[in-house]
Amino acid sequence: MRFAELHLDHVRRAFGDTVALRDVDLTIKGGEFVALLGPSGCGKSTALNCLAGLLPLTGGRITLDGRRIDDLPPEKRGFGMVFQNYALFPHMSVRRNIAFGLSMRRLAKAEIARRVDEAVRLVQLEEHQHRFPAQLSGGQQQRVAIARAIVLEPPLVLMDEPLSNLDASLRLEMRTEIRRLHQSLGLTTVYVTHDQEEALALADRLVVLRLGEVQQVGSPEEVYAHPVNRHVAAFMGYRNIIPVSVTSQDGERATVHTGDGVRLAGVKREILGTQAVAAVRPEDFVVGGSGENVLEAVVEIVEYHGREQAVEARLRDGTRLHVRTGSRLAPGDTITVEVPVDRVLVFS
Ligand code: ATP
Repeated sequence: MRFAELHLDHVRRAFGDTVALRDVDLTIKGGEFVALLGPSGCGKSTALNCLAGLLPLTGGRITLDGRRIDDLPPEKRGFGMVFQNYALFPHMSVRRNIAFGLSMRRLAKAEIARRVDEAVRLVQLEEHQHRFPAQLSGGQQQRVAIARAIVLEPPLVLMDEPLSNLDASLRLEMRTEIRRLHQSLGLTTVYVTHDQEEALALADRLVVLRLGEVQQVGSPEEVYAHPVNRHVAAFMGYRNIIPVSVTSQDGERATVHTGDGVRLAGVKREILGTQAVAAVRPEDFVVGGSGENVLEAVVEIVEYHGREQAVEARLRDGTRLHVRTGSRLAPGDTITVEVPVDRVLVFS
């Protein structure tokens, strides 16, 4: 059932005046785990529903190994779908929920039983297979939803925030489970999430969307370390987006000044004018450091996070700074923070 290539070609979807997807080009290879990532309203669910066939395109095309599929109804595409509300049939047992799609395909009884057995085993629900959905925990219900999707051996599995209704520890457990199933079954998975950590942990490739447009496609390492613009950076955990003026540019390196008049050196990531932003991760600041890039700030809020503290501080010009540190700080403390030059990304 494995395909070689699924291709989105100038895909567009508008709702009246709202353009949810504009001109999306993307190639997904068979066997890949692709995460569609972005803030609320960026078009992730719309993209997934267009792939599933639940929403017609208003422009462009989708092809599977060169064959056009965007004009096919969902059942003809045969993709597996897992949503955040598990959408199980409440009056059917776990087994019957999982078997439902196979029965619709009129497979032989023995074949259905064999495949349901295997799916139940894969998602570790052997003990609960005769229960009804209401008798299951959220995590167990989500396992049923996943089993129901994979039992059909679909060429593509589409998941829309499947873990968002689960509590934190179960979310981590199911995350590993989903990755394990993807690998062991050789599935091709498209996974929608607004959680960058989940996307980084799960996917072979990330597609970062903003306002219906693809901002960046790359491996987790690429997108994490080399965001292409300030929006991707902000979304990938560069919580400090400090407005600066550009003093000089020399190849890869940019020298800028903060509103406080402090000089910072960083890595130039885009063509720059006179005004720019310096993007820094909270964990890349070293409290008390001294060296080339040092800012002075006053601590305002301290959150306890076990081994670390998340600190909100302010520069003299009022710019807010987010710092993660192992040092014990208190509101009112004046601190200096240093950041290595290669940890400062300068965007237009
Ligand atoms: P979230 O993470 O909040 O679910 P999303 O990235 O999945 O967001 P979409 O649901 O794809 O975003 O929505 C993209 C844009 O399209 C939004 O501006 C949304 O308001 C709009 N939109 C989505 N569905 C409809 C609809 N049925 N009618 C009108 N506008 C819609």
